[in-house]
Amino acid sequence: MYLKSLELQGFKSFPDKTLIRFGDDITAIVGPNGSGKSNISDAILWVMGEQSSKTLRGAKMEDVIFGGTQKRSAVGFAEATLTLDNTDRALAYDADEVMVTRRYYRSGDGEYYINRQSARLKDINELFMDTGLGREGYSNIGQGRIDEILSLKSNDRREIFEEAAGISKYRHRKEETERKLAQTEDNLMRIGDKVSELELQLEPLKVQSEKARKYLELKEELKGVEVAVWLDNLDKLSADAKKAEEDYASASFVLQQAHDDLDKLYEKAEQLGVSLREEDGELETLRVKANMLESTHQQLDGQMAVLRGNVENNNNNIERIREELKGQEDRSGGINSQIAQAESRILEIEKLISSRSEELEQLQMKLSAMTASAQGMTKRFLELRAQ
Ligand code: ATP
Repeated sequence: MYLKSLELQGFKSFPDKTLIRFGDDITAIVGPNGSGKSNISDAILWVMGEQSSKTLRGAKMEDVIFGGTQKRSAVGFAEATLTLDNTDRALAYDADEVMVTRRYYRSGDGEYYINRQSARLKDINELFMDTGLGREGYSNIGQGRIDEILSLKSNDRREIFEEAAGISKYRHRKEETERKLAQTEDNLMRIGDKVSELELQLEPLKVQSEKARKYLELKEELKGVEVAVWLDNLDKLSADAKKAEEDYASASFVLQQAHDDLDKLYEKAEQLGVSLREEDGELETLRVKANMLESTHQQLDGQMAVLRGNVENNNNNIERIREELKGQEDRSGGINSQIAQAESRILEIEKLISSRSEELEQLQMKLSAMTASAQGMTKRFLELRAQ
């Protein structure tokens, strides 16, 4: 494992992005006092998770952010990325190269990344634990730190040597396990308290549990009864449905028959309509004929009345002439011939009357026959219309 590069941006005296590659040829960085050499080793410490601003030679953590100069204004955050070769898997991370990044904002927010994946400080500490690196590591020793180490209390010194010997990891684990054990004992005590508290509640809970059991039993029974009722209902519904289907089939049959009958009735009504129209035509013709006969009858009646008047006049004339003849029998022998003429004229007139009377009688007979036929027709017409 070796340090490949360090990239800085906004860290202390490095406002611009600065990449320092540590190839095989670099063994040291030299420069005048205050040129920023120690800032580079500060950056390495910082990126590995150093939390003490004092160790980083500042008063507070914000001091790691470039604070500005006369020529340049301050920046908002500091960032450092340390790239390590890990082909030998010295770091417990499955990658040939491990990049650790730390970023810190003036707001106090900080972020860590391992190979650009967000990480926690704990992950960074575990990554470097027992590798000789890390904030408690011995590989990075600042100015005057050796004197400091030698003058530290024996316990703190032991920590440094344990870190170097690689056993601090196990000691940390042991301490953590002991801490967890104590926590578990605390929890056990709390559980014991809880158990005694619960034991007090046990009796009422037993009663409640008995009730709940009974409830579940009854619920199960109810379910069974409900199912039986449902099945029964289902049977009834099936029977009803079957009956309804049968009723429907027979009703359909009856309906079909009714449709057929209705069709036949429509057909018959159509035929009756046709014959009714025909009868109507005939009836109309008969009505016209009857009217004509009626007017002929009336004409004949008139003529007869005239003829009767004539006959009466003639009879009167005959009577008057006879009386005149009687009176004049003696007065003139030619009167007899006039009488004979008048009598033959009377005979003619009487003949005419009798022939007219016969004709009238025939016409009256014809009229009554036609009237009877018209009445029959009217009756038939009324029957057909009712139908
Ligand atoms: P020496 O050899 O005397 O120890 P050096 O070369 O190690 O000096 P550093 O101590 O690393 O130098 O750098 C100190 C310089 O860094 C000073 O000029 C100081 O102004 C500058 N500096 C430190 N912190 C910041 C900061 N937050 N913003 C700007 N400059 C800073």
